[in-house]
Amino acid sequence: MDNPASGRILRIMNTDTDIAIVGGGLNGPTLAIALEQRGLNVTVIDALPAPKRGMRDFDGRSYALAHASMRLLRGIDLWDAIKDHTQPMLEIKVTDGRAGTGPSPWMMHFDHTEIEEGPMGYMCQDRHLRQALLAKMDGAARITQMSGETVVAQSSGQLTLASGKTVTAKLIVGADGRASGTAERAGIKRTGWGYGQTAIVCAVEHELPHGGIAHQFFMPTGPLAILPLPDNCCSIVWSETETRATKIMAIDDTDFLDALRPAFGSFLGELTLVGKRFSYPLGLTIANRFIADRVVLIGDAAHGVHPIAGQGLNAGLRDVAALVDVLSDAKARGEDIASAAVLARYEQWRRFDTATLAAATDTFNKLFSNDNPLLRAVRDMGMGVINATPRLRRTFIREAAGLTGDLPSLMRS
Ligand SMILES: Cc1cc2nc3c(=O)[nH]c(=O)nc-3n(C[C@H](O)[C@H](O)[C@H](O)COP(=O)(O)OP(=O)(O)OC[C@H]3O[C@@H](n4cnc5c(N)ncnc54)[C@H](O)[C@@H]3O)c2cc1C
Repeated sequence: MDNPASGRILRIMNTDTDIAIVGGGLNGPTLAIALEQRGLNVTVIDALPAPKRGMRDFDGRSYALAHASMRLLRGIDLWDAIKDHTQPMLEIKVTDGRAGTGPSPWMMHFDHTEIEEGPMGYMCQDRHLRQALLAKMDGAARITQMSGETVVAQSSGQLTLASGKTVTAKLIVGADGRASGTAERAGIKRTGWGYGQTAIVCAVEHELPHGGIAHQFFMPTGPLAILPLPDNCCSIVWSETETRATKIMAIDDTDFLDALRPAFGSFLGELTLVGKRFSYPLGLTIANRFIADRVVLIGDAAHGVHPIAGQGLNAGLRDVAALVDVLSDAKARGEDIASAAVLARYEQWRRFDTATLAAATDTFNKLFSNDNPLLRAVRDMGMGVINATPRLRRTFIREAAGLTGDLPSLMRS
C-alpha cells in the first residue's frame, strides 16, 4: 500500500474473523452462539437491522421445535430464555379430511407417552426465539454482529458488503435462506420446483383447551396444521392452491375465519384471530452441493422443504449441530477448519438426511393434496395400518421428535 493513510482506512473497514456467517435469521445465530462457546471468533452479517429481526409483538408466526432441537437450544444455554413461552406437543392426530364432510374415520394418533424421552416437540412463537438469539449474541464476547449490511460479493475467504466494508474469514457459512446468494456466488446450483400452493400462516385464540394436541388435516387442496401454543391459542399453517390462497388473503378477518371454519371444525369452540396473517409460496429447493472452497451451507440455504411435517427449521438446526461437531473436532486436532477434507465430513453427514427429508415431504404432499378416490383409499388404508402397529407408531413419533439417525452431540440427551 503506497499511501499509509488509505492503508489505515482499509484496515478499519475490514473485519478479520474465524467464521463469517451470512444470514442472521434463525440458523445463523444458533450456529454463531454454539461456535463462540467453543472458542471461535464469529461475525454474523444480516441485511436487516436487528430491531426488524427481533420484533417484540406477536406477528402470528410460530415453529414446531422437535425434541432434538430443544436439546440443542438447551445445550447452548438458550432454552431457559424461551421455555416458559413454549407449549409441549403431547399428541399428534393426523386425519384425512374434506371440507364440509369432516374427518374421515381413518386417522393416525401419536402419543408422546409411547417414547421415554418426553414431548415430541415444543411450539414456540417466532418472536421469542429471535429475541432470545439476538440477546444471547449481544452478550457474547467473540461474536461481532453486522446488521443492516448486505453481502454483495465473495471470493475465497473474503466477503464484500454493499457499504464497501470487507470481512475476511477462514470459513464462510451461507445461512442466507432459500435464495442463498452465498451458494450462487460459490457456483453451487440448486434443484427444485414450486408446488402451486401457498401457506397461509396465522394464530387463533379458541374457547376450549387444546390439551397440547397438534392436528394435521389433509385436505384435497393442501394440508391444514393446527398446532398448540401456550394458553388457548393455536398456530395455523393452511396450505391452499395459489389461486384460492390469494383470494383468502384478500378477504377481511371476519370472512377469513368463516373460510377457515369448515376445514378447522368446531372441536375447539369459537375462534378469534390473533396477530397478522402471512402467506408463503411453497416450493422445494435443495442445493446440489452443501460445500465449496471455504464455503458451507446450512438451513434453508442448503434445503428448503414443504412445511407439511414442520421439519424445515429442525433440519437446519441439525445442520448447525453437525457442523459444530465437525468444526470442533477439526479445531481440536489442529486441522484447517475450512479444508476440503473437513467440510466433506459435514456434507457427507447432512446431504443424505436432507435429501431423504425433501423426498419424503414432496411425496407426502403429492399423495395427500389429492382427491383421487383410489389414492384416498390407499392412503387411508396406510394410515389405518400405521395406527394399528405400535412399532410403526413409535418410529413415526421418534422421527417427529428428531431422535432417529446419527445424532450430533448437541442433540443427544
Ligand atoms: C409456512 C411455513 C411454516 C413453517 N413451519 C415450521 C415449523 O413448524 N417447524 C420447522 O422446523 N420449520 C418450519 N418452517 C421452516 C422454517 O421457517 C425455515 O426452515 C427457517 O425459517 C429457515 O431459517 P434460516 O435461518 O435458514 O433462513 P432465513 O430465516 O430465511 O434467514 C435468512 C437471513 O439471511 C439474510 N440474508 C439473505 N441474503 C443476505 C445477504 N446477501 N446479505 C446479508 N444477509 C442476507 C436475510 O435477511 C435473513 O435474515 C416453516 C416454513 C414455512 C414457510
